[in-house]
Amino acid sequence: MFAKVIIDQEVKAINQIFEYSVPEKLTLQVGMRVFVPFGKRILQGYVVGLSETCSYDKTKLKSVISSLEDFCAIKPEMLQLMNFMAKKNHLTMASTLRLFLPSEMREGKVREIYETFYSLADKSFEPKKNAQKQAALLEFLKERDRCSSIELGNRFGYATIKSLLEKGAITKQKEKIERKPLVLPKQDKKVELNIMQKRAIETINGQNVFLLHGVTGSGKTEVYMHLIERELSRGKNALLLVPEISLTPQIMSNFKARFGDFVAMLHSGLSAGERFDEWKRIFSGQARIVVGARSAVFAPVENLGIIIIDEEHEQSYISESNPRYFTHDIAAFRASYNHCPLVLGSATPSVDSYQKVVDGQYQLVELPTRANGKELPAIQIVDMIGEIRRGNNGIFSAQLIADLGQVVANKKQAMMFINRRGYSSFMRCRDCGYVATCSDCDVSLVYHREDNRLKCHYCGKQFKVLTHCPNCKSDNIKYGAVGTEQVVAKLKELFPQVKILRMDNDTTSTKNSHQKILSEFKNSLPAILVGTQMIAKGHDFENVTLVGIVDADQSLFQADYRSTERTFQLITQVAGRAGRSKDEGKVVLQTYAPRHYVYKFASNYDYKGFFKKEANIRQTACFPPFSRIIRLLISDNDENYARELLKICYTEIEKLKDTYQNQILYLDAMKAPIKKIQNKFRYQILLRVKLEQADQIEELVFDIANKIVKNNVFLEINPTNMS
Ligand code: ADP
Ligand code: ZN
Ligand code: ZN
Repeated sequence: MFAKVIIDQEVKAINQIFEYSVPEKLTLQVGMRVFVPFGKRILQGYVVGLSETCSYDKTKLKSVISSLEDFCAIKPEMLQLMNFMAKKNHLTMASTLRLFLPSEMREGKVREIYETFYSLADKSFEPKKNAQKQAALLEFLKERDRCSSIELGNRFGYATIKSLLEKGAITKQKEKIERKPLVLPKQDKKVELNIMQKRAIETINGQNVFLLHGVTGSGKTEVYMHLIERELSRGKNALLLVPEISLTPQIMSNFKARFGDFVAMLHSGLSAGERFDEWKRIFSGQARIVVGARSAVFAPVENLGIIIIDEEHEQSYISESNPRYFTHDIAAFRASYNHCPLVLGSATPSVDSYQKVVDGQYQLVELPTRANGKELPAIQIVDMIGEIRRGNNGIFSAQLIADLGQVVANKKQAMMFINRRGYSSFMRCRDCGYVATCSDCDVSLVYHREDNRLKCHYCGKQFKVLTHCPNCKSDNIKYGAVGTEQVVAKLKELFPQVKILRMDNDTTSTKNSHQKILSEFKNSLPAILVGTQMIAKGHDFENVTLVGIVDADQSLFQADYRSTERTFQLITQVAGRAGRSKDEGKVVLQTYAPRHYVYKFASNYDYKGFFKKEANIRQTACFPPFSRIIRLLISDNDENYARELLKICYTEIEKLKDTYQNQILYLDAMKAPIKKIQNKFRYQILLRVKLEQADQIEELVFDIANKIVKNNVFLEINPTNMS
């Protein structure tokens, strides 16, 4: 017997399949992990094929040493997914396979698929007085024979278990994980679905991609749960992806409450051990619903009946660093492998996804009204240039201050949203609202402090910093954004008696800090919560009657062809936080560009109108989804060497023009907007190509880069960050 093996090393040079002979005594299956001799070393590999024959001289073949486990860590579906991703994302096979395994199983670590249980060992053990968690755990175990490590860990923390184990108060048993029969937990409260929800559930059936466009509060979560329930009752399993778990605590607790132990959660808040515990439950078929953030798309659930991506427009579904991938592609592959529906849910679908509805690739399903029948809150646009003309130079308009005063008087709550993205900043005239844009690309220019220039991230053109506004000649030109601290300080000045909370990257760096801030907010009346993107989605506070968007333009004038789309999404999401319960809500949106089309459509909740306009602009300017952007980033410590590589690559890529002249919309080589990161000099080649033959061109560009540059190159497709 011979085995085809992929060596678990990310090096491109050995990104191929090696053959080994299999000793008689060893029983191998495709998907198992093995140890093999490689050169002078012993390395870990994956068996991807077995056969009676080999293509090499048998006598020269080395043999497999042993298998790591007695099970197949890589399931057949995942082997096919590997092939798909390696090709689509230009990844080495080993780096894709690594995505499919929890870190606890990587680097040759041997693992067993057992579940751990704990029970009382020493009934007379007395914990120290202040060890309340230990006492609670012991109390809990007294009432039952034993408890699984997962449940115990969730309730009392893994540190508590560890210390009691060391003290001999509890013992541990391991058991092979068995499949449990299907018994759904009893449901206490179940809402009656409305007619639109029912229709959505009937429509979403069979192998297809469905775009579920439902306004904020339309009850999409309820639809997801019913769909999942239906698949469970058909004997199938489900996968639900959510943007970032810590931000969607509600969805998590809802699922736990309804599906209990059937749910496995995979998210960044778990320790490596906890992650592995959940992975095992999924792998063995014990957990049948997987809820998780982006990387949960690789969870080893078999027999999928449905895959759902909630908030499908979220950028976090794109993995921008190596290995690069787009969650939707992976989900679509898995849905088609399992012949099941893929549901993309959002109140503000991405332009890419909605264009696929237009093109007939996705089926549209709509939930046009809020589930509780409440109107969406009114959005009032406030012209900040008018404020300046009236002598108000502050960060809050008179309208916003008046509305905040009303909230305080009524003992209600307000959320103040500050938009903060990336480090780039645009230049804006404070007198007329003019923003500097590229003359060729129609995207905003980014100010680069290091060389005091304005740069276009799509064509590399550079411009002098403006001293006067070309529109109104004013010299009142500024860049930079208002920060959360500044807003908090101002609010404290205006409302010294009111509880004011701040939620951003600085205040949420420790574990559970999110929850702490949110629960403090929930329990204070009146209160104002100031925050960044973090407060934009998922939260459901019944006393929030006012949402203020302090400077809506911050996401609008980013040097990114998607910045208008992002702005629309953000406004809709943030506005959705107001007036969710009995009190009517209101949104005040402050802008220096009140006549920009995005505000007109967003304030009317007119997604379709916005999409039409935006798609039209993209089509005219030849930007995605009507073209593909390919960026080849070359970096090296030696600037001359990086430039040399760039030149050679460019010469080769330019030759593609012979065959693809009419397909290439743009091609140029240049310094990257940020010239140096971590002492590496960065150069780039930018291509914009028509869709017709984009795949072929991408492939050829990749081959060229791979041949010439090997390890210092990054190929990006429609990158979201062009700096
Ligand atoms: P979305 O995810 O679309 O923004 P949610 O799923 O969070 O909306 O639902 C918003 C609120 O409406 C939730 O409190 C939910 O419990 C409630 N809800 C959902 N469906 C119904 C229904 N059919 N009848 C009444 N309330 C509902
Ligand atoms: Zn001006
Ligand atoms: Zn440009």
